[in-house]
Amino acid sequence: MLKRVAVVGAGAAGLCAARHILSRPNSFAPPVVFELTDKVGGTWCYDERVGTYDNGRPVHSSMYRDLRTNLPKEVMMFPDFPFDPQLSSFLPHQEVQKYLESYCQSHHIRPHIRFSTVVENVKPVVMTTEDEEERTTWEVTSSDSSGCQKTETFDSVFVCSGHYSDPHIPDIPGMENFKGQVLHSHSYRYAEPFSGQSVVVLGAKASGLDISIELAKVGAKVTLSHRRPRLTLPLPSGIQQSSAVVAVEDDGRLRFQDGSVSEADILMFCTGYNFRYPFLDGDQLGLKIQNNVVSPLYRFLLPPTFPSLFFIGICKIICPFPNFNCQVQFALAVLDGSVTLPSQAKMADEVRQELQEKVARGVEQRHLLIMDQDQWEYCQTLAHTAGFPLLPPVVRSLYEEVAQQRQIHPQNYRRLNYRVISETEWELVNRSADS
Ligand code: FAD
Repeated sequence: MLKRVAVVGAGAAGLCAARHILSRPNSFAPPVVFELTDKVGGTWCYDERVGTYDNGRPVHSSMYRDLRTNLPKEVMMFPDFPFDPQLSSFLPHQEVQKYLESYCQSHHIRPHIRFSTVVENVKPVVMTTEDEEERTTWEVTSSDSSGCQKTETFDSVFVCSGHYSDPHIPDIPGMENFKGQVLHSHSYRYAEPFSGQSVVVLGAKASGLDISIELAKVGAKVTLSHRRPRLTLPLPSGIQQSSAVVAVEDDGRLRFQDGSVSEADILMFCTGYNFRYPFLDGDQLGLKIQNNVVSPLYRFLLPPTFPSLFFIGICKIICPFPNFNCQVQFALAVLDGSVTLPSQAKMADEVRQELQEKVARGVEQRHLLIMDQDQWEYCQTLAHTAGFPLLPPVVRSLYEEVAQQRQIHPQNYRRLNYRVISETEWELVNRSADS
């Protein structure tokens, strides 16, 4: 019998899941893709609104107006669907949204998407079959724009709801004393309103750095406050570095770890996001869903006790689209029986061991889902196990080249343009005038 799969979300991960399900008509019925907004693309749909939509639900996308990708299109693309070759390597967000639209159209996914429909609950139902085997199905309850609620049954659920929407704001003692404006990068759209203001940006990862550079360009006085060792990369004038903000004094001034104290008009948290799945009951699934970790997930994909529930794209510091493409194909191989999973106990053991090894390597609890250098071996292992094509080595070498360039030229690396020559080689073609 054809398996029925529910996909939560029509961002890059959900579209990728739908594309591969549709390409296996002998094993799977067409998927049902639930999407709470009226567009495909998720994060890549820029929305000037901050806070909530008209229906009171929180705005999903954290995209800002002038964002250009921090990975070149040659690395970002789904391996079987290149971007337009005329485009430069680093793209404005609009081009990525167009790319996802075109992916959706080319693979005839749109008729299977239920737009403006939110998944409210996903619940496993375990039955014992006549031959004494346990079989899990999933009850998915969704609600459309008119508020009409529906519960349907599926054989599997792909969670593709993203994890860059629920702002993580660390506790800072005395925060209530701060007299200026407080915001999170989730609600940052463009720099002009901050011109002439003193802004303390907390966090110096991708968004913290990018937003600081945007703010400095419009004449904001930026303090980039972070816990990392002092950054040695060249920052534009207008940005000074400081240690982490540790408290707000009674008079509203900020106190930094090095003991210094200063005033600020704006406090901008670029401190990342929480994992949040309001439609799942972690206890019921044997999953711990905390701010920074969802565990245990075998191969960062499925809870050992419910191996027909898949989380696509949960890892951080990865090449997202190629990673989704590997995870989805592995998940479908599990579902169609071409990959046999180890026993629940073995899967749970493997997850435990893997996390212990990471902790022994000095990885902090909150960074356990950061993959970075481990992503290549991870994708190879999934591909070997499920028998689909490996990622070409050029993806890794170009990713590593760009990571280096980003360190050396944080303001200018996006001017570089690359061309992939073969499965293993790329070349630098030119520099574009705009960055
Ligand atoms: P999303 O794009 O977030 O999509 C999730 C979808 O699920 C959304 O459409 C949402 O509406 C829907 N949804 C959520 N909950 C429900 C529900 N309950 N019911 C129904 N639908 C639901 N990646 C790169 O490769 N290159 C970059 O340069 C890059 N820059 C980034 C910059 C920013 C500011 C951010 C936030 C991320 C960036 N990323 C970048 C990472 C980016 O998130 C991934 O590339 C990718 O788009 C994530 O796709 P996703 O499908 O997992 O999640």
